[in-house]
Amino acid sequence: MSRIGEEVESAIEAVRLSLRTGQIVAFTGAGISAESHVPTFRGADGLWRNYSPEKLATAEAFESDPRLVWEWYDWLRGLIHAAQPNPGHLALTELQRRSPERFTLVTQNMDGLHEMAGSQDVVKLHGDIWRLRCVSCGREGRNEQTPMDHLPPICRCGGTLRPAIVWFGEMLPVDQWDRAMDASRSADVFVAIGTSALVYPAAGLVQVARQSGARVVIVNPDPTPADELATWILRGPAGEILPRLL
Ligand code: NAD
Repeated sequence: MSRIGEEVESAIEAVRLSLRTGQIVAFTGAGISAESHVPTFRGADGLWRNYSPEKLATAEAFESDPRLVWEWYDWLRGLIHAAQPNPGHLALTELQRRSPERFTLVTQNMDGLHEMAGSQDVVKLHGDIWRLRCVSCGREGRNEQTPMDHLPPICRCGGTLRPAIVWFGEMLPVDQWDRAMDASRSADVFVAIGTSALVYPAAGLVQVARQSGARVVIVNPDPTPADELATWILRGPAGEILPRLL
């Protein structure tokens, strides 16, 4: 085994022991779903017809061309619909099942794969791609149709429906954010998985946890700005690393 391999092995063992006691927060980003073939925003697959998802994921883009924005979400919903939770999602479900009173799962993902894996009470910072909201009357509901038969979809009131997710520049749902902050402040171990730690305010939770005394674990094959806050960095795919922390 290589030197680096041995270091990762001993870090995995140390993290496994640290998860046996105290409050745990698992904080996930798009990378945990990469092995379920859902593209990340910043990975090699992160482009769609030469548009950057970051430019399409705004209220301004939706206002100027709702059909174009919907074509992207319709495509993404199709990919997510075909996806299954991977061993990374399932490991977090198992961690929660073992210690429900000391585990909180906070996700930036909108794909619903944590719930499909059986995770309960997920704190969802950026909404849910399977819910739609009317920009005129505000009515919100679940919609799993894929592909949509009409783009953009229209509400009963005649208004345009949008995905009920948080776009760049929009406020996070206050109740979800408060839960995430409370859990991060009281975390003993904060595990950031598959996130580039670039999208704020969500990425700020890593700092909040660290400043409140938590040990920070990073699970990611690539470096991130949050690495400097880490007690342990586990370089590798979430689907391989997380099952080994159980
Ligand atoms: P991001 O796209 O900015 O970064 C993805 C991160 O995952 C990168 O750091 C990458 O190195 C890492 N990664 C890639 N493969 C991995 C693997 N197998 N295991 C572990 N890590 C892996 O994602 P982000 O930080 O979540 O921020 C982007 C925003 O995009 C979020 O707000 C999120 O809501 C949204 N988003 C969500 C989905 C989804 O719901 N699945 C998909 C794309 C984007």
